[in-house]
Amino acid sequence: MPSRTDPGSNDTSRTRLIERLMEQFPHVPREAVIKEDLLRGGVAFDESALSDNEGGDVKPKSYFIFSFDHGTLPELGAAALRRPPEEIVLTGGPYELRRTVVSVRVNPASPYRVASDADGVLGLYLDGRRISDVGLPPMPDYYRHTLGNGKSVMEVAPTIQWGYLVYLTVFRVCQYFGAKEECQYCDINHNWRQHKAAGRPYTGVKPVEEVLEALAIIDRYDTAKTSTAYTLTGGAITSHIGGRDEADFYGQYAKAIEERFPGRWIGKVVAQALPKADVQRFHDYGVQIYHPNYEVWDRRLFELYCPGKERYVGRDEWHRRILDSADVFGARNVIPNFVAGVEMAEPFGFTTVKEAIDSTTEGLRFFMSHGITPRFTTWCPEPTTPLGRTNPDGAPLEYHIRLLEAYRSTMEEYGLSSPPGYGPPGPGRAVFSVSSFMDSLPARQEDDRTGSGAIS
Ligand code: SF4
Repeated sequence: MPSRTDPGSNDTSRTRLIERLMEQFPHVPREAVIKEDLLRGGVAFDESALSDNEGGDVKPKSYFIFSFDHGTLPELGAAALRRPPEEIVLTGGPYELRRTVVSVRVNPASPYRVASDADGVLGLYLDGRRISDVGLPPMPDYYRHTLGNGKSVMEVAPTIQWGYLVYLTVFRVCQYFGAKEECQYCDINHNWRQHKAAGRPYTGVKPVEEVLEALAIIDRYDTAKTSTAYTLTGGAITSHIGGRDEADFYGQYAKAIEERFPGRWIGKVVAQALPKADVQRFHDYGVQIYHPNYEVWDRRLFELYCPGKERYVGRDEWHRRILDSADVFGARNVIPNFVAGVEMAEPFGFTTVKEAIDSTTEGLRFFMSHGITPRFTTWCPEPTTPLGRTNPDGAPLEYHIRLLEAYRSTMEEYGLSSPPGYGPPGPGRAVFSVSSFMDSLPARQEDDRTGSGAIS
């Protein structure tokens, strides 16, 4: 077997690309190079690696908010009928990978393929060469039970990040609607339509009672207490749902959960950057971590990519509100997300990696200088979105690798550490599955419940 410094290669372009980047960026874990490439470009699955949906032993992909696939359901072939696993875990192989959890984004045309060998052992293949072992998530006990009305726990309260996070998309569509309002990289509304068209259960607005019932099942059967946090999220609410504005709509779930299961999970909400009084309501309802996502830093790109947010709130006000929310939650517990890679999308994005990283670093510095630690997800160019259509390959892998480097060094410059509520940092330990920022930060011995000590 080749050593870590000389993994060997066959002469194919994608293999050459990842090995060149591993060599060029020795401080970025090799695990992160492969994980980012899988997240930006997707992975194909042999039928032997698919799940048997909710009746089998493998935890299926729940489609917890966006499709995160490189094709529409009808284009995914067998993977549309037998769901792929929610995540895969990579270990070993010629690059001696430490345990790496990767969210599954299906792309039948990817040079990466999960398949089993003649002995039935699963592996990850790149350009036809086996590059790691693959583990699949076991079906959790709580997925084997249904709610009183027959709905599945996977539909109402799926878990991701190897069971760490309960993902509660309680509003499955967005009130930013159509080309003039929807974010240009987001397929939340399409994903809702395609699951309805396929006849899958897909609840638009999840009743509070259903969420509580599903959580009670999780609480009862998750005896190892792997589930540690929940995220309340969904589309933006520009008017009302059932007479409630955005803070009261998402806040009602936090209130009900905290009353019923006090302190059982770390409560997080992903919502718009709201005025301070609304943010205070989130806090009063029992939310501990607030994610007012800023999406992309560059002013021109924000205006082009997030027309609804620009029109209703505006970029400057959005940023002001993020800073203000630190007065309510404490800077450590305000963690705005951005979508890593869209700043390089054609036709409007930066044309060089350097410009894109410089711009994104400016945004990191803006927030980190106020003690706020942003985080990012790796852009998946879903084909039904405007940016996905024009950029089917996503951003260059080098951008994603340089971003990991820039993120870590900016964080160190401001004396910050990994944000709370993401589990443990470090290669071989991280469970955050939709980007490798946690895999790329130093491992620390601390409270694994938050990944960063206590939450105030
Ligand atoms: S605000 Fe933008 S990113 Fe969020 S759900 Fe709506 S369209 Fe998608």
